[in-house]
Amino acid sequence: MTEPHAPIDRTILLVEDNPHNRKIFSGMLAHAGFRVIEAEDGNQALTRVEETRPDLILMDLSIPGIDGWEVTRRLKADPRFSPIPIIALTAHAMRGDEERALQVGCNGYLSKPISPKKVVEEVKRYLKL
Ligand code: MN
Repeated sequence: MTEPHAPIDRTILLVEDNPHNRKIFSGMLAHAGFRVIEAEDGNQALTRVEETRPDLILMDLSIPGIDGWEVTRRLKADPRFSPIPIIALTAHAMRGDEERALQVGCNGYLSKPISPKKVVEEVKRYLKL
């Protein structure tokens, strides 16, 4: 990897239950200069949002406990958190998933496998960086 980029004053919450994906995405975002916090299930995701008020959330939709769909619904129903952009991540995307993700309030949608580089690009685009 090249030298890490200058710090970017934005916090990304990465919600992902797969430790391998979490490590890759988190590493790439940190390398790009973001502050990254992680959650591996729905309850943790909700707690982290309360604690840290992230600037953007990358949301794996299939996570244990409260799934990503429901976490998104709850956040978008809460005026404190509804402005936070949420980009959904799904593996084995099914027909209709994207539409459904946008319906529950996701601002964007990416299907896995996806390169970490592309994830960083999308995050920057949503944050207008
Ligand atoms: Mn998952």
